[in-house]
Amino acid sequence: MADPGLPPFMTNSAGGPPPAMDGSFGQSMGAFGALLKLQQNISDKFPKAKVPWNETRKFLKASTIEQIRSTSLYKFHMKFFKDIGLGNMQLISYAPMHYIFAVPNNPVCNFYPALQNQKVCVATTDALHRFFREDLELECSVEETECIKNGDPYCKFKVDLQPISAYQVMLDDYDKKILSGIRPPVDDTELRDRVRTLTIYKLLDSGRLSEIGNAYMQFASNMPVQEKVFDPPWKLQEELSSIAESHNTFGGAFGAMAQKIQVPDNSAPAAPAPAVSEETAKLQEEAKNTGSFAELLAKMKKEQQ
Ligand SMILES: [Zn+2]
Repeated sequence: MADPGLPPFMTNSAGGPPPAMDGSFGQSMGAFGALLKLQQNISDKFPKAKVPWNETRKFLKASTIEQIRSTSLYKFHMKFFKDIGLGNMQLISYAPMHYIFAVPNNPVCNFYPALQNQKVCVATTDALHRFFREDLELECSVEETECIKNGDPYCKFKVDLQPISAYQVMLDDYDKKILSGIRPPVDDTELRDRVRTLTIYKLLDSGRLSEIGNAYMQFASNMPVQEKVFDPPWKLQEELSSIAESHNTFGGAFGAMAQKIQVPDNSAPAAPAPAVSEETAKLQEEAKNTGSFAELLAKMKKEQQ
């Protein structure tokens, strides 16, 4: 057999070393480097950002955008994503178990200079999925529904929680007592709040256990869960802030600094109000479709037996 020789790209006829970086090649390599750095950040930081259920519970039980935005978990999530390099994310629509996050001027779009006229922000979609799944223990699906690279004003990401895992994290022992028809040792106001939340989440219907509630309680009784108790990843930061605040001069400066950090960036315009309400209405309409919850629960229940 004849010597096959060197492959063509290793012979002289292939034309020596590649030409010096032209603009687009350099741009691609720079973007690739930034993407690698982002992915390294995610690999390093996500394992240290586990959130205890008692904090995730407050996030899940918050039933308006304003309430959600005021939870520690939400504030942590937005700052965490910003620090990692995922831009100024914010919640713009909500229905129980459905969240839409928008990112104006999304830096992730620049990671894919060669792609045009399509939704490109896979890195953000993956990061949201990992954050909800690994750090919050909430199974979910995430989809980029709009992208600046596709001509939309913002990149938008829709997060749909898997109901069973949301219930599992959200319901504490008192909620389960209520669903079992037992009054927990709480005052009337708290009892009313809890019943309201359980109704929003379709576990109760007019004060009685709904079909979904019934299915979930049967499922849950077959699957006792042990809740892990630990400090949230933002605890140290909160402690530092409160120490600084108690020291006059430095505290004043530090407080002002901390406030400055939390003020939303004015150069990043908030999503326009009409789009929000339209989207929220759509989400809420979708959330009314309880058939899928019940079906899923019934299926899970069957698998348990
Ligand atoms: Zn995008």
